[in-house]
Amino acid sequence: MATTPVSAHPLLETDEQRALRAAVAALGNRYGRDYFERVTREGEHTDELWSEAGALGYLGVNLPEQYGGGGRGMVELSLVLEELGAAGCPLLMLIVSPAICGTVIARFGTDEQRERWLPGLADGSRKMAFGITEPDAGSNAHRITTTARRDPGTGEWLLTGRKVFVSGVDIADATLIVGRTEDARTGKLKACLFVVDRDTPGFQYRHIPMELAAPEKQFELVMDEVRLPADALVGDKDAGLLQLFAGLNPERIMTAAFALGMGRYALGRAVEYARVRTVWKEPIGAHQAVAHPLAQAHIELESAGLLTLKAALLYDAGDDAGAGEAANMAKYAAAEANVNAVDRAVHTLGGNGLATEYGLATLLNAARVARIAPVSREMILNHVSHQSLGLPKSY
Ligand SMILES: Cc1cc2nc3c(=O)[nH]c(=O)nc-3n(C[C@H](O)[C@H](O)[C@H](O)COP(=O)(O)OP(=O)(O)OC[C@H]3O[C@@H](n4cnc5c(N)ncnc54)[C@H](O)[C@@H]3O)c2cc1C
Repeated sequence: MATTPVSAHPLLETDEQRALRAAVAALGNRYGRDYFERVTREGEHTDELWSEAGALGYLGVNLPEQYGGGGRGMVELSLVLEELGAAGCPLLMLIVSPAICGTVIARFGTDEQRERWLPGLADGSRKMAFGITEPDAGSNAHRITTTARRDPGTGEWLLTGRKVFVSGVDIADATLIVGRTEDARTGKLKACLFVVDRDTPGFQYRHIPMELAAPEKQFELVMDEVRLPADALVGDKDAGLLQLFAGLNPERIMTAAFALGMGRYALGRAVEYARVRTVWKEPIGAHQAVAHPLAQAHIELESAGLLTLKAALLYDAGDDAGAGEAANMAKYAAAEANVNAVDRAVHTLGGNGLATEYGLATLLNAARVARIAPVSREMILNHVSHQSLGLPKSY
């Protein structure tokens, strides 16, 4: 049993969206947590689930119909991820492949780039990873140094730099890399986006071992004058941060959905357990010391779900600025709600909370991912302090 979000109410979601929730939940439950744990344990990937979700139109629900997508938006894509997570199958690559990369290519790619990538991202036959984090920049994306230089003879790009913690590079056909061009005249550097195919000569990726029970792995990337075709650049090289932010709002909304799904899954397990586990006269769920933390977790998840819906609605309505603040707050709220829900769920099961058989303890680490990535809790609090409250900046 998973908890049902309050946003599934007819006043908040259309009949179509609620039907989508129900259908995705049914798919997720058909695979279930056992499937997810098995592929993780065996070092495999969620290929069957990914393909089926793609064939059913769930992965590309946000992408343009013209390119095989569903023509809907982040409201729909985020509920797909949330429902899969609530069924115990959070598909991390949904955050990067259709949400960030699909959005950026749909909004800023050339017709040729759209035709090359969007149908595959929509039906799940192709995946794309996203690399922005650098070892010496971290939370400060303004400091990234990955640099693209144009070969004046051929028009090709030469990309040099390092990235860390990039998810799913091994299973992605390409990675969308955030770099900067060298402005030969002024020496200034500008943010821009490049599609780097996985088998591009010189594109090196190394697995970073993580203490996370998840099928998706993280990688360090090293690029030393990696030669890319002229059309590897997505969008305008002079557009600066604008294009990048178009992809980062969906990233935050989807990370919120990832956290919400996991939190609902953990809470569902705890509620099931607390209803039946009896060591005194009544089941432990009758003790308020057990019930209240679970009730609080439910309220926190519901609140975060409403913020996530707000962010997705604003984004889908084309209000990038309004969506920015809401998406950051939604990511913060959902990540915190998830960490609390998982912690309380594990505690509710007593010793079984840490037993392998019950599968909850591995979520203790997994739940922290949304607190750190793609932007940490502290950086969101900084953003809200400065942008929403107008407080002065210390850095
Ligand atoms: C599982 C996982 C998957 C990931 N997937 C991807 C991916 O696909 N692509 C990608 O590009 N990246 C990915 N990342 C990287 C992630 O986005 C970064 O880890 C994150 O942005 C934080 O950067 P950092 O690790 O360098 O931490 P740092 O920037 O070094 O920060 C360390 C700590 O200092 C705090 N801090 C830093 N600056 C400030 C400040 N000004 N005020 C207050 N506190 C501050 C931070 O909040 C944090 O707690 C992933 C990370 C993880 C864990």
